[in-house]
Amino acid sequence: MTAPATITGVPFYVNGAWERPESRTRGYVSNPATGATLAEVPYADASEVDRAVRSAHEAFLKWRQVPVVDRVQVLYRFKALLEKHAAELAAILTSENGKTADDAKGEVRRAIQMVEVACGMPSLMMGDSLNDVASGIDCKTIRQPIGVCAGITPFNFPAMVPAWMYPFAIACGNTFVLKPSEKVPLTPTRAIGLLDEAGLPPGVLNLIHGGKEAVDALLHHPRVRAVSFVGSTPVAKHVYTTAAAEGKRVQALGGAKNHLIVMPDADMPKTVEAIIGSAFGAAGERCLAGSVLVPVGEAAGPLLRLLVERTEALAMGDGAHHETEMGPLVSSDHSARVEGYIEKGVAEGATPLVDGRQRKTGANGWFLGPTIFDHVIPEMTIAREEIFGPVLSVMRVKTLDDAIELVNRSPFGNATAIFTSSGKAAREYSSRCEVGMVGVNVGVAAPMAFFPFAGWKNSFFGDLHAHGKDAVAFYTEQKVIMSRWF
Ligand code: NAD
Repeated sequence: MTAPATITGVPFYVNGAWERPESRTRGYVSNPATGATLAEVPYADASEVDRAVRSAHEAFLKWRQVPVVDRVQVLYRFKALLEKHAAELAAILTSENGKTADDAKGEVRRAIQMVEVACGMPSLMMGDSLNDVASGIDCKTIRQPIGVCAGITPFNFPAMVPAWMYPFAIACGNTFVLKPSEKVPLTPTRAIGLLDEAGLPPGVLNLIHGGKEAVDALLHHPRVRAVSFVGSTPVAKHVYTTAAAEGKRVQALGGAKNHLIVMPDADMPKTVEAIIGSAFGAAGERCLAGSVLVPVGEAAGPLLRLLVERTEALAMGDGAHHETEMGPLVSSDHSARVEGYIEKGVAEGATPLVDGRQRKTGANGWFLGPTIFDHVIPEMTIAREEIFGPVLSVMRVKTLDDAIELVNRSPFGNATAIFTSSGKAAREYSSRCEVGMVGVNVGVAAPMAFFPFAGWKNSFFGDLHAHGKDAVAFYTEQKVIMSRWF
């Protein structure tokens, strides 16, 4: 069964069937570039969550018995369908999130890569063995699925972030309940439609929509054994503490405040292009977005001259249009929140080099131009809090040591980058910064599917990171078996 082509109410997908529940609470999905309403989203209540979890639990009893080589056949077919429908998925993504067509295609590509890696589960799940650990006794480790896993995801990567979770979880033999962001449910709903078309047995993956009520019901449900969360830091903390107190395995990826260090010996034109992509790509709505620019010593002069020029020329518009470099923000509320930060920056004494409020183009969409503040100091709100929009704060320092101290004082530790032509400076910085993902002359250091993804400090709560080998460890229990034959 495939998902309905024209979506007016976004369906749930429970036990292999599409449902249009008459829930009490509903929200709306809008096109951020036009303000047009695209769909209505029903919010699951505790009883609907319970049904989805029960369906996942019933399915788990059979799915865990399916050999891993057979489980991944579904994912091979899913991958082929994702490839076939990649352009359609990217268009849906742009329409509900606002990111540019190129960014959306790139995101769908990343989601496909997650599925490709999960297809390798027969090798990835292998355990270890050693014969004669004692006389006549052999020992081996095996990995087994843990049960029903839940995934709760944010608005900024509706194709990729859910794919950090469910392909790995189900390939390992678990079943899954996905609760994507209620702001962008259309992309994951279409993707799950393709998974259904690929022949996933009923109940192995269940999709519900909603907000806090649905999330809290998942966190407290006794049948949910593991929770994967990606979103803002306050909610990540809540998810981590609540689910861990219930005895569940949790990985909760939170917000960020990422620093971009520029040494005086950096290739300035290339560095500026990388900073533009990092700070203003996806309108700054990326957990890997550079939001604090740290020019070291003499770097500030040439860097800022070029950067301001390039920022002022950035092509803003509907992400669906080919020439657009930066699309709108996801919602009017979020746009107003980001604008509030710009007002605070001015009020607290930062110097606006480019003021995005002067480029609030588009009659109906939520467009806010890119902003650069100079002479930002650590006490200012824009230096401390995650803005999650196209606002770049410049904090000048004298030496690399000063830059490292500044970065390490941040309560966040998601991503960072250093731009330099000195291997020594790059090595020193990569080694001493307290950050989970580091770019060297790379503005958005996004690990590929076969590497782990997560930050440090307030950017991550848990132990095992997303995707890569960590995902296999997260979604399995290890067992040690010692055998002696008489
Ligand atoms: P959010 O925290 O508002 O929402 C994330 C999810 O949590 C959604 O599914 C939402 O329905 C749910 N939720 C929201 N409030 C809740 C509450 N009070 N209780 C329970 N559940 C709740 O995040 P967002 O605005 O959708 O996404 C942006 C945030 O996500 C940013 O902070 C960004 O840095 C972060 N993010 C982090 C990563 C990472 O890898 N660390 C990746 C992408 C996004």
